[in-house]
Amino acid sequence: MTRRDLLLGTASCFAGMAWTLEAVAASNDAFEIVRTEAEWRRLLTPVQYAVLREKETEQAGSSRLVREKRRGTFHCAGCDLPVYSSRAKFDSGTGWPSFWAALEGAVGTREDNSLFMRRTEVHCRRCGGHLGHIFDDGPPPTGLRHCINGIALKFVRSPV
Ligand SMILES: [Zn+2]
Repeated sequence: MTRRDLLLGTASCFAGMAWTLEAVAASNDAFEIVRTEAEWRRLLTPVQYAVLREKETEQAGSSRLVREKRRGTFHCAGCDLPVYSSRAKFDSGTGWPSFWAALEGAVGTREDNSLFMRRTEVHCRRCGGHLGHIFDDGPPPTGLRHCINGIALKFVRSPV
């Protein structure tokens, strides 16, 4: 073993430690469903993965759920938790499925200061999957607009 190997060994050891600390910090969010990146990649389509796990935003108007008007429940595409009801859905004209409220206790929020904007990020309470953002220009009764990526949702129609 050369001195160079030793130094490199030390460096990767520190890198491993940093990763461990990060993993601990993330687990403090304490989501009920925790999966590795590889597991999520297996379970989700590439676009679902980009939105739910990497907080990407789907192209406006790309989801057929924008025009979904039937009665039913919208589930998290990551873990199947019911997160939004068709009763709170409205047409925002933005090209993304929009709701004035989530189902009670179904989502969590955090400040998002990316893209030079101050926004409220909304995610699934159970698996932490990114759903979209909440704005305060929505209709009554809440005045909120949950702007949600359709690809992060699965529509389950209510039995008539
Ligand atoms: Zn979920």
